[in-house]
Amino acid sequence: MGGKEATPLYAMQCFLFPKSLCAQLQNVMNRFWWANNKTKALLAKQAWPKVGSYPSFTWRSICSVRALIEEGMVWRIGNGECVNIWNDPWLPGREKNRISGHEIRLQWTSVSNLMNPDSNTWNADLASSLVRTNLNNYSNEEFTDFYKDLWGLNTPSKIKIHVWRLFNNWIPHYCNLAKMKLSAESLCPLCKEEMENLNHLLWSCRVLRQVWAYFQIRTYQFENFVDSKVCFTRFFTAAEIQQKSIIAISLWSLWFRRNKLIHEGMKFKIEEVLGFIRGYAQDIILTHSNIQNHVNHSLQDIWQAPEIGFIKLNFDASFHSKDKIATTVVIARDSAGIILGAETYLFEDVADPFVAEARACERALIFAKTMGFSCLAVEGDALSVIKSIKRMGIDRSVIRSVTRHIFLMGLTFEKATYHFVPRNVNGVAHALALEGRRIGFSGIWSQSFPESVSLLAEKERRQLR
Ligand SMILES: [Zn+2]
Repeated sequence: MGGKEATPLYAMQCFLFPKSLCAQLQNVMNRFWWANNKTKALLAKQAWPKVGSYPSFTWRSICSVRALIEEGMVWRIGNGECVNIWNDPWLPGREKNRISGHEIRLQWTSVSNLMNPDSNTWNADLASSLVRTNLNNYSNEEFTDFYKDLWGLNTPSKIKIHVWRLFNNWIPHYCNLAKMKLSAESLCPLCKEEMENLNHLLWSCRVLRQVWAYFQIRTYQFENFVDSKVCFTRFFTAAEIQQKSIIAISLWSLWFRRNKLIHEGMKFKIEEVLGFIRGYAQDIILTHSNIQNHVNHSLQDIWQAPEIGFIKLNFDASFHSKDKIATTVVIARDSAGIILGAETYLFEDVADPFVAEARACERALIFAKTMGFSCLAVEGDALSVIKSIKRMGIDRSVIRSVTRHIFLMGLTFEKATYHFVPRNVNGVAHALALEGRRIGFSGIWSQSFPESVSLLAEKERRQLR
């Protein structure tokens, strides 16, 4: 029997169990519900003081910090001798701040084993080898935010279910079939560059990247040892709502076209797929007219000046995972669109692009203090940062300590608001970040700006209505 006939049959038998699928879905949702309510119940029991009706600024600050204290109980490493690698919460952001997984290697016990005692630095090879073997053991609870976003999409459920099955590696791609000895093929039929497996289909396929680039969805560079499922969920949860739909539709339609190619010999053309995804996404937007931010550029995609009396601060970061240096930038403009000042700042040893963006926003407020501004409209294209600043409850993300600091600093101004804008609206900040990185300048810009920056700012000023 030929492989071609066997494949669809196998798919029916092994991958389309509606009952077990429903049970799994139920399970995920129940767990999500239970986890959420349990957290609230626990919080309610905390014996924290109430804020009261007329709180002083200090008291308000202390009370708003308490969430940080509740969630931020992590060891300060020190010399690492008292911190157990496997049991203690020492690794911020992971499963309850602990190393996740079961592959405990007992020859290393305390965190001090992971350091070079002479130089007081990390033994990076050893540390990352321990973390790497444990990264593949992320549980579903680690992906709560991702699932919440996925099931909340406005796309038809067949698309969401496809993404869910792909994410859990339950689709009959070549590597899964090869495990069952049902296929001898292994190269991705679309790009023909890498093995077709979960990582490839979800994150690294060149054709998939081409689709995302076409729709201007920002992908991020992560360190090589970060699992592609983790990369994907971070990328997905940081995307705008419209982009999330497009990401889901792209995964689904590429899989659909891939099957047409394999089973029916239908030629694959990237232009057709792009046209299809664009049309499909627009249909969804039209039927949900309450959603703003169209895929195509609209008038909302123009930089807006702040109200009179306010200063608008656009922030951005340029991050390279190779040297781990982030260049952050903030640029201040008034209600007439005139640049009042700007700052670029170099951070070394930054963990990832999200931390870089959070630091950029933090620098924006420090800069505003230096300049003596009092009413701020802070604006950036980092959705996860803006969301995290506004979120009051528990938030286990790595950038939480920075965004809480931003929130608290914001309280010391007369007014401070935070807005997310699409990337093209943040173009001036972006251009200055690139210039700052190029010349390696850390400091305040007050007199002249690079031409790329001043031309773009002037164009935006003339567009003001
Ligand atoms: Zn591919």
